[in-house]
Amino acid sequence: MTFSSQNNLDIKAKLRDEALRLRDKYDVSSLADLERLAKEEYGVREVVRTPLAYKCPVTIGSRSCASHIFYYSLSREVERSSLAHEIGHVVAGHQTNRKNLSGIEEDEANYFAKELRGISSLRQNLTLFLGGSLAVPLTFVVPFIRISEEIKLKARGISDDIIAMI
Ligand SMILES: [Zn+2]
Repeated sequence: MTFSSQNNLDIKAKLRDEALRLRDKYDVSSLADLERLAKEEYGVREVVRTPLAYKCPVTIGSRSCASHIFYYSLSREVERSSLAHEIGHVVAGHQTNRKNLSGIEEDEANYFAKELRGISSLRQNLTLFLGGSLAVPLTFVVPFIRISEEIKLKARGISDDIIAMI
């Protein structure tokens, strides 16, 4: 179920209800559970933690039908917030592939993430902001591990076309 056709306030109310429903079913402090949630509840085929997604997480697929989510940070806290944010884009039915996401859509994804995680907006936004700083050293590391990471992803059955979008 996605909510993209309604106005922002209605969408937020529904995102909150959905987050509360999910909090009963999953341990939202666990990355493994967040990955499972994306697959079981929204049919995301693969949720992959890979250093190739160090700059920012990415969701691949068409509106309301995401096929892959990639995420990574040196901090587990940042990873929880960014994975919850990406799931928020899927729940809200936003266009994915990182293209043309509006400020309102980013706000909705963050709203869902903070409701799902049970944290304040400030903490959600600050966590993602800090994630940007933590990504800086990876700029120097990731080029050296790119090929071996791509081999790992291919071994999981992820196609070259998808890998090129990370
Ligand atoms: Zn986003």
